[in-house]
Amino acid sequence: MSTSFSEPAASPALLLLGKRRDPISERGVDCPGDLPSPSDPGLVERARKARETLGDRVFILGHHYQRDEVIQFADVTGDSFKLAREAAARPEAEFIVFCGVHFMAESADILTGDDQAVVLPDMAAGCSMADMANISQVEDAWAQLTEVGVANLTIPVTYMNSTAALKAFCGRNDGAVCTSSNAEVAVRWAFDQRGGVDSDAKVFFFPDQHLGRNTAVLQLGLSLEDCVVWDPRKPLGGNTVEALHAARMILWKGHCSVHGRFRRENVDKIRAEVPGVNVLVHPECTYEVVTSSDYIGSTEFIINTVAAAEPGSAWAIGTELNLVRRLALAHPDMSIHFLEDTVCFCSTMNRIDLPHLVWALESLVAGDVPNRIVVDPQTQAEAKVALDRMLALPAKDAAKD
Ligand code: SF4
Repeated sequence: MSTSFSEPAASPALLLLGKRRDPISERGVDCPGDLPSPSDPGLVERARKARETLGDRVFILGHHYQRDEVIQFADVTGDSFKLAREAAARPEAEFIVFCGVHFMAESADILTGDDQAVVLPDMAAGCSMADMANISQVEDAWAQLTEVGVANLTIPVTYMNSTAALKAFCGRNDGAVCTSSNAEVAVRWAFDQRGGVDSDAKVFFFPDQHLGRNTAVLQLGLSLEDCVVWDPRKPLGGNTVEALHAARMILWKGHCSVHGRFRRENVDKIRAEVPGVNVLVHPECTYEVVTSSDYIGSTEFIINTVAAAEPGSAWAIGTELNLVRRLALAHPDMSIHFLEDTVCFCSTMNRIDLPHLVWALESLVAGDVPNRIVVDPQTQAEAKVALDRMLALPAKDAAKD
């Protein structure tokens, strides 16, 4: 059977992000200097030559959601957590070129040595989810939770997809970081710090409400009624004092602009069109999508599940389009479908293209370090506390994710 995956008819317009540097936001700035033209036929050769000239001085990381034209130059590919660990395991590399988004490059800077420079080829490659919770909003929310007598029962947990400032907040408030692979273990750990899941302990989870809700309800056995949503634009997040006292999970009103687009109707439609299809989605999808799917798991879980699947099997995958397209190409003996009808690239991930990579590598060859991501020492130290708490948690078998 050949793959049924088809290329979307048109690429989406890239999201135009902020033009000013905003230190508390994922939004970046335009690249300084001259970018090569995207139509330059010599771009691949230029990237190869610069890569070769730099040799072991450079290590290139490529997130699974990156474009093929960039991924071909990655020394290693992975999700955000794996890539941060890979960066930390390369102390000999003078430059870490991170083909991903801003918060990932920040985590790499926290986990690498001061003598290593982490470079993001396009500073406008932010993350809309990470932007939905900034540190002043989270500090303000925590102050309100303290005032109503809830914070002392609560542990903050931030998803890896957040700014370094939020990770630091968790570090100094007894909390931790989690990933989509270990959210169950991390949230359970957080409850245990205040008496356990069966006590009146609470977890304040940000920025992705869907990962928090799916973890609490589907993995820890809490109910939907145990979860409240904190809207940073409203007093008490839009809740009453009583509701906050009764809640077990306080979920930040944030979501991924890619995974949040999948709908229950997409699942119903593909099941009607492809009998026997296996629906496989990321836990950043809504509760309705996740509960109507067959398999749920992180990016690495999705890749491993498809790799282990029977030839001839049919899959509908709800995650970023670059990855789904690569899976379809890698497994022509399966029928692989994208869960949505319309294009669903992550527009910020797609900011990193071949011209930006060439520009970054050639700048390094010329002795300039462009777009260096630097997290200040205090934020680094506090964020590392939260990251280290996560790293100390027992590993979960990714295959059962
Ligand atoms: S896919 Fe979602 S969470 Fe990942 S970088 Fe894009 S917007 Fe952020």
